Amino acid sequence: MAQGHPKFLWWNGRQMPWDDATVHVTDLGWSTVGAIFEGIRAYWNPDQQEAYIFRLPEHMRRFGQSMKVVRLQQEYPTDQLINAIVTLVRENDSREDTYIRPLAYRGDGDGKSIGGFGSASQILINTHAMPSHLLKGKRQAACISSWTRISDNVMPPRVKNLSNYRNGQLAGMEAAANGYDVAILLNNHGQVAEGGGSCLMMVRDGKLITPDTSSSILESITRDAIMRMAREDLGIEVVERTVERTELYVADEVFMCGTAAEITPVTSVDRYQVGDGELGPITAKLEKMLHDIMRGIDDRHADWRTPVGLKALARA
Ligand code: PMP
Repeated sequence: MAQGHPKFLWWNGRQMPWDDATVHVTDLGWSTVGAIFEGIRAYWNPDQQEAYIFRLPEHMRRFGQSMKVVRLQQEYPTDQLINAIVTLVRENDSREDTYIRPLAYRGDGDGKSIGGFGSASQILINTHAMPSHLLKGKRQAACISSWTRISDNVMPPRVKNLSNYRNGQLAGMEAAANGYDVAILLNNHGQVAEGGGSCLMMVRDGKLITPDTSSSILESITRDAIMRMAREDLGIEVVERTVERTELYVADEVFMCGTAAEITPVTSVDRYQVGDGELGPITAKLEKMLHDIMRGIDDRHADWRTPVGLKALARA
């Protein structure tokens, strides 16, 4: 890291010094209305001197799907983008937990109108430090938002479109103004969808339950990992179904999950205490397992980790 930012980023086909990637100020504004992105994490393992990117191919597959839905042209093959990310994290010498953000945006806008929808795309990939909060005791007080989650025929939540985040931001600001840490949004059927930037899971009677992918949620990669860990590694029954608001009030455990949220236990919803108001046993097990798997301490699910090659570099 140099002067608070990494040395390199990747822009339109090549890795370049951070300071060289500039645009004219008039390109701001409308340019990102149709933009889509991914949020990916790399976890540093100090004992192994290696950084592992979590589920990189799955994130880049979703990146491609998001581009398709918003009709952005895929100028670069997914494999090239994957290689670019691995190289970028390695050459930025990211010996810390790192957030990686690929962004695809309209390259043929004139900056003056919101109406056009050309398909030429530009791609930026940049990284910054983002320490994990797993196993650090983070807890959140949640509320049900008065804002409704966007829906598939309005602004599809399945797509990681920047514009979608206005919905979650409004909910987040309302939650903060009312003294809560996180907002849970209901969908247009009045059922539980997700947080503004994370999915939601609850435990009832020993089962892990999460809103299904038709509940107006992002098809979260962390959610998928947690469901698989619960089923395959812990033998816990997992149910994807519609979830009602009052189920959260009587749930034994509730947590948010996602790349940024990782696993964040929720200890109250609308000031109803969840369980005994402490970290629940299933959440605790999943949190520890996710931490160890992401960081390469637990060698299960090796295909979820892409080593960036810092270890080999150190040896050389
Ligand atoms: N829902 C929303 C709205 C999100 O922004 C995110 C974060 N990308 C998630 C869920 C979690 O998705 P993932 O596990 O793929 O990061």
